[in-house]
Amino acid sequence: MNKRRRIYEGKAKVLYEGPEPGTLIQHFKDDATAFNAKKHALIDGKGALNNRISEYIFVKLGDIGVPTHFIKRLNMREQLIREVEIIPLEVVIRNVAAGSLSTRLGLEEGSALPRSIIEYYYKSDKLNDPMVSEEHITAFGWATPQEIDEIMSLALRINDFLVGLFLGIGIRLVDFKVEFGRLWDNDQQVRIVLADEISPDCCRLWDITSGDKLDKDRFRRDLGGVLEAYQEVARRLGVLTETPRPRGAGPVLVTSNGTKPN
Ligand code: UDP
Repeated sequence: MNKRRRIYEGKAKVLYEGPEPGTLIQHFKDDATAFNAKKHALIDGKGALNNRISEYIFVKLGDIGVPTHFIKRLNMREQLIREVEIIPLEVVIRNVAAGSLSTRLGLEEGSALPRSIIEYYYKSDKLNDPMVSEEHITAFGWATPQEIDEIMSLALRINDFLVGLFLGIGIRLVDFKVEFGRLWDNDQQVRIVLADEISPDCCRLWDITSGDKLDKDRFRRDLGGVLEAYQEVARRLGVLTETPRPRGAGPVLVTSNGTKPN
């Protein structure tokens, strides 16, 4: 049984107390939710895939100098992270019109945007995450003007890097959502770091040639093949080393030379 202290439980993740002060354990659940949790399902293996995909992306971003909360992966479903004070904003970066932007402005899904666009949503389930402007953010003190500048420049760097990363594996990064947190260093200086996760749960990923959706829209729009799409993203990123088997699945057929048949 899990005796660790649970700090927070969200729709797709749980945060537990970490082994040392200032650390937390981020646990990825198999729960899929949409429309502010009005729609819910369990997708066996999704948590393990998101853990892997998010680890890969956070490590790569760390390599190019983007500060993140990620420390290390602990097991199939969990990673060790730095405890940060989450800034209550969902930061959405868009390259191609889709989803709520298409609805709001009457843009055809898939039409190119004149340039990448950043939007902010105030994190509040009760209010359905309303879109807000920098004016709201600074007036209500959710972040300072300096923090907004930092967030915007980090968001654009993350977008530039991820567009290229996904293009290299035949995927168009249509849009994605990120969250940031405040991290205090020893001198009590605050640093803005990338937090939460980056996975097909919070990105729109379209196959370059077929246009197939390889993200949570498969769940939101009842397209089927959710797990297969997430597996495809993991496979193309080269992180599908251990195929998570659905719970209750029968024994796996192994060939005489010990490998799994395709
Ligand atoms: N997104 C997210 N969490 C949310 C809302 C949006 O991760 O609570 C992501 C979503 O997966 C997409 C991007 O942010 O990649 C833009 O979403 P949009 O505003 O179009 O909203 P949606 O159509 O998903 O309701």
